[in-house]
Amino acid sequence: MAGTQFENKVVVVTGGGSGQGRAAVHQFAAEGAKVVVADWNEDAAAAVAKEILAQGGTATPARADVSSEDDVRAMIEVATSQYGRLDVLFNNAGVGFSARNRFTMASVVDTPVNDWDSILAINLRGAALGCKYAIPVMVEQGGGAIVNNASVNGIAAVLGADAYTAAKGGVVALTRVLAVEWGAKGVRVNCICPGGIETPMIAEVLQDEEYAKGLRDENPMKRLGRPEEIASVALFLASDAASYVNGVILPVDGGWTAR
Ligand code: NAD
Repeated sequence: MAGTQFENKVVVVTGGGSGQGRAAVHQFAAEGAKVVVADWNEDAAAAVAKEILAQGGTATPARADVSSEDDVRAMIEVATSQYGRLDVLFNNAGVGFSARNRFTMASVVDTPVNDWDSILAINLRGAALGCKYAIPVMVEQGGGAIVNNASVNGIAAVLGADAYTAAKGGVVALTRVLAVEWGAKGVRVNCICPGGIETPMIAEVLQDEEYAKGLRDENPMKRLGRPEEIASVALFLASDAASYVNGVILPVDGGWTAR
């Protein structure tokens, strides 16, 4: 359904080439936003931007590894140079739970220090760098909204992914401190904590049918989430409808953390 909620707004979505990021790009664009689709997978970013253009929307791809300061600075500059402003940053890029990403998901006892560093660099430093370069632009403009994508791992003990869990806990803490630091300047910073969401990130672990059934059964809603169900919450938090919502850590998990 097309709308105008984000007309004349410029939105950067990191990890926009897949899963929740891609769903958010589609929803922001459908609401009139000009969207920078940022991803370290250049082809994926280009493909999603192309989907938006084909639907009559406005989007531009940007290759950016969020753990790289130079890439993140350049990514924010794509928004300001192409579209003249930056209203929303969805800090969504992340890695976890997939052999595809090479990183070890285990107890800290079994996590090689290089993997620890990489997981923290992408999931936590990536979000921090996005904020570092987005906030000054937003302050200069008189305001903006940042939505960080953490995880239920950031607020509850989920065994076997300690670096990821620590990184997402860091994103939760970062959200709170930035919300308090920058609220007076009109920059709102909020955080989503998704439960299990059916995206390529967890496709591999879901191939284990027993494990997948366990995940669904332990959820109060007896199912996993869909990427669109995270995207719609990101849009709400980024929108004027949430103009007094700041520093919130919002589980979007079918009630999993409420058990
Ligand atoms: P996904 O793998 O489908 O998409 C992640 C996207 O981020 C990919 O396009 C990938 O190329 C990109 N990316 C990864 N590292 C990057 C980097 N360094 N720089 C730029 N782009 C990078 O996964 P998803 O489920 O859509 O994940 C989105 C976010 O949601 C992540 O932060 C993830 O940790 C979080 N999350 C996912 C789940 C889940 O169950 N899928 C649950 C909780 C939180």
